[in-house]
Amino acid sequence: MKIFTSQLLLFAFFFSLFSFAIPTQERISILRCPICGTEIKPTSKTVFMGENDGEKVKFCSFACASKFHKRHLTSNLYVMDYLTGEFIPANTASYLIKSSKVAALLKEEMPPYVIAVKDKSVAKDQLKQFDDGEYVDGYLNAKQSLE
Ligand SMILES: [Zn+2]
Repeated sequence: MKIFTSQLLLFAFFFSLFSFAIPTQERISILRCPICGTEIKPTSKTVFMGENDGEKVKFCSFACASKFHKRHLTSNLYVMDYLTGEFIPANTASYLIKSSKVAALLKEEMPPYVIAVKDKSVAKDQLKQFDDGEYVDGYLNAKQSLE
C-alpha cells in the first residue's frame, strides 16, 4: 500500500508538471504577425514571408506583407502556394484576386482576400470552386490591380 501511494504521488507530480507545461508550450508556439499582431494559424494558407536582417519573418496576409514590403523594398518576399503550402517567390506567383468566394472563405482574415499559386493553369483546374475572380501574375501586378 505504501508503494502504491508513493507511485500515485509520483504520478501526480509528473502529471502536474505536464499540465503546467502545456500552456507554456502553447504560448511559445503561437506565431503572430509582426505588423498587426494577428495569430498566424498553422493551417493558414495565405501566409507571406520576408527577410529582415537575415531573419525570416512571416506575415498573416497580403495587406501586412505589403506594409512590410513598403518599408523593406530590398527584402525577398515569399508567399505560400495555396495548393501545396510551399513558399514561392512572391514575384513569380500568380494571385487570384477579386473573388467573392475567396473572400467568403477567408472572411476571418484581413482584406484584400487573395490567394497565391505557383502554377496558374494547375490552379484554374484544381480551384474550380473559385470561378469568379481573376488571376494576376506577380506580386507587384496584383498589388497594383488591388489599389
Ligand atoms: Zn498581419
